[in-house]
Amino acid sequence: MLPKGNPALEVVKILPHKNCGECGVPLCITFASQLVGGKRLITDCPNLTEEARLNLEKLYQPPVRGVTIGHNGTGVTLGNERVLFRHELRFFSPTAIAILVDDTLTAQELEERLHRVSELVFARMGHQTGVDLLAVRAVSGSASAFADTVRRTRSLSRLPLVLLATDAPVIEAGLQAVGGEHPLIGMATRENWRDMARLAKQYGVPLAVQAETEALGDLVQSLESVGLYDLVLAPRSAGATHFSASVADLIRLRELAIAERQLGYPLMAYPVQPMSAATEVTWASALTAKYASLLLLSAVEPHALFPLLTLRQSVYTDPTVPAVVAPGLYIEGKPDEQSAIMLTGNFAMTYSMVSSDIRSANLSAYLLVAEAKGYSIGVACLLGTITPDGVLALINETGVRDKVKHTCLIIPGLMASLKDKIAEATGMEVLVGPIDSRFIPSFMDASWHPAAKEST
Ligand code: SF4
Repeated sequence: MLPKGNPALEVVKILPHKNCGECGVPLCITFASQLVGGKRLITDCPNLTEEARLNLEKLYQPPVRGVTIGHNGTGVTLGNERVLFRHELRFFSPTAIAILVDDTLTAQELEERLHRVSELVFARMGHQTGVDLLAVRAVSGSASAFADTVRRTRSLSRLPLVLLATDAPVIEAGLQAVGGEHPLIGMATRENWRDMARLAKQYGVPLAVQAETEALGDLVQSLESVGLYDLVLAPRSAGATHFSASVADLIRLRELAIAERQLGYPLMAYPVQPMSAATEVTWASALTAKYASLLLLSAVEPHALFPLLTLRQSVYTDPTVPAVVAPGLYIEGKPDEQSAIMLTGNFAMTYSMVSSDIRSANLSAYLLVAEAKGYSIGVACLLGTITPDGVLALINETGVRDKVKHTCLIIPGLMASLKDKIAEATGMEVLVGPIDSRFIPSFMDASWHPAAKEST
């Protein structure tokens, strides 16, 4: 477990002290602080002895174990958490959202539900967010109906799966329907844990464990004693409609994991009774803020999921890293040879506002997004983060000049002081746009006359 104080100093004692730079940073101490901050992996240092690697893993192992559901590369990781409060370091694995799919749905109902799930994709702050998994739930009691629903779900969606039933033969039918995959299966209870443990071992899949919070310890011990460690805990209170009990139990379990190094597994919650979409999303929001690694939800209404996904994005961003989008060329609308080339910076808020104001006005443009290192345009210009030479390099790298018949570049009003230098560096005619992107539409009406801007 990482010590309190400055854990990087403990980590660096184990590193080889070669300061060779092979890990991508010049000093072992820099590597150590990036490792502690979750920005590097232990395997990034190629010079560790086996003993050092094992010591580092022991020291570095997160108090909340990481558990991956789904295929390699497209899987969803739960847990891997180290702290109780985000400001102490950061949270690592955003609460995964799974939508429940019952095996009593008709083929048409299933198709419609999965279609609605596929449309739950939202763009915010330059990133796309949406549903992460599907949870197929055995309600019919029939192994063949469950397997059939699992099979049809897989044929309609590539999202990783959770398979839920209390009978091991039903779960096994589902596992056989998606052979070779790595779904989360559950629930293991005091009554069925031996059968569920056998399946989890035989198929090499993670296992969800359900019990009253006070009884989870004994059940987890039993599962660990047969060599199972990829566990996800589902305290029974977290499935109730009593918000305060759900939240209190998840907080208690996370505190146990961080402070006492006990029951250090990801936590999940699910609705055991039907709730309105509004109630469900309120409940889910409280548990997203307080330690749910996985939430199983019934609601597929966009107005319910959007606020939850927005909250998740806010809770799980790294507070030490400004929100950015990748620099480059972004296509807005359907630009042609007479469309404007506009410049902005890559602070996610700046990009989102400019892009959204262009789209809301039904404009088409080539949007050049310059590296601003997360600063707003004004600050980036003051600090020299955005420079005329940098703008020239961006224009050349993206090849945007070849896409139009004019030689104009519109820069933000806050970049007006660089107008002449950008014109000199790029050889383009530079127009100074508005300071506030809300005024882009009126600026374009007044100042953008593409035919007149065509180069000859
Ligand atoms: Fe130090 Fe390893 Fe990085 Fe070299 S590769 S600087 S030894 S941490």
